[in-house]
Amino acid sequence: MMKDDCIFCKIAAGEIPSKTLYEDEDFRVILDLGPATKGHALLLPKDHAANLYELPDALASKALIVARKVAMRMKEKLNCSGLNLVQNNGENAGQTVMHFHIHMIPRYSDDGQKIGWVPGEPSSEELEAIRQMIVD
Ligand code: 5GP
Ligand code: ZN
Repeated sequence: MMKDDCIFCKIAAGEIPSKTLYEDEDFRVILDLGPATKGHALLLPKDHAANLYELPDALASKALIVARKVAMRMKEKLNCSGLNLVQNNGENAGQTVMHFHIHMIPRYSDDGQKIGWVPGEPSSEELEAIRQMIVD
């Protein structure tokens, strides 16, 4: 199902033109308009899901198969030496368009980008407390 006011629904449906790299009945993969690197793409499901929490299992599992297919082509055609898959959920995680998408960011030795975080240094007890919060 599409959401009326969602720009990625319109792009995924082909109602708004995009630089499409791949399309099937469930997904469209397009070039990002504000790319981090050459070939930065977005994998969009055609059905609206705001984020990972809303994505049905069937689409979640297919998404990685499509991402892998496109990744193989990027590796071959762009000759990138690495690839980041980035998937943001919620404003605090950097999500700006509230339609599920996976960023596919080809990486090159001199691309000047940094995708990462500052590592913490939790104790074993702190890690165990967090583990229990999640699994209990
Ligand atoms: P987010 O921050 O939500 O994870 O990523 C949104 C991404 O969508 C950004 O990288 C931004 O450049 C891209 N974007 C936003 N609007 C459009 C658009 O209309 N077309 C395309 N191709 N990319 C868009
Ligand atoms: Zn949408």
